[in-house]
Amino acid sequence: LERTFSMLKPDAVKAAHIGDIYQQIEATGLKIVAVKMLQLSREQAEGFYAEHHGKSFYEPLIAFMTEGPIMVQVLEGEHAIETYRNLMGATDPSQAAPNTLRANYGSGMPANATHGSDSPESASREIAFFFSDDEIC
Ligand code: ATP
Ligand code: MG
Repeated sequence: LERTFSMLKPDAVKAAHIGDIYQQIEATGLKIVAVKMLQLSREQAEGFYAEHHGKSFYEPLIAFMTEGPIMVQVLEGEHAIETYRNLMGATDPSQAAPNTLRANYGSGMPANATHGSDSPESASREIAFFFSDDEIC
């Protein structure tokens, strides 16, 4: 079994899509094995998105990510990383396949509703960024 890290970004939480998105995650067969709601500090957002420091979209991304509460989850199942990225769709909601989370709930960039780890290495880093081992069921 593989684990991945999932985030519902401030736009999705503000628009009250938590329940809909959790329902669609569970419908894939992935199990939600840890959950937390929080509002990112600037320092946390910078740490989470350190790889994008210096890019043109970095400041708008940090501003967006700190503007309201988020939900963070650990998902577990076979091919969890790929399964959840397929559920999300392409990064840009206007390019995302029909009925993906980003097509349905994203409104643009950076407000694309969700995040998911893109590799086993990023999944490990991102899970550890938000959860200790004893918070994962
Ligand atoms: P995420 O890491 O959030 O799952 P991703 O891996 O598909 O998304 P990245 O390239 O890592 O995409 O970009 C991280 C986030 O930065 C995107 O999800 C989006 O919110 C924002 N972003 C990326 N590119 C742009 C852009 N050109 N303009 C505005 N925001 C952007
Ligand atoms: Mg990414």
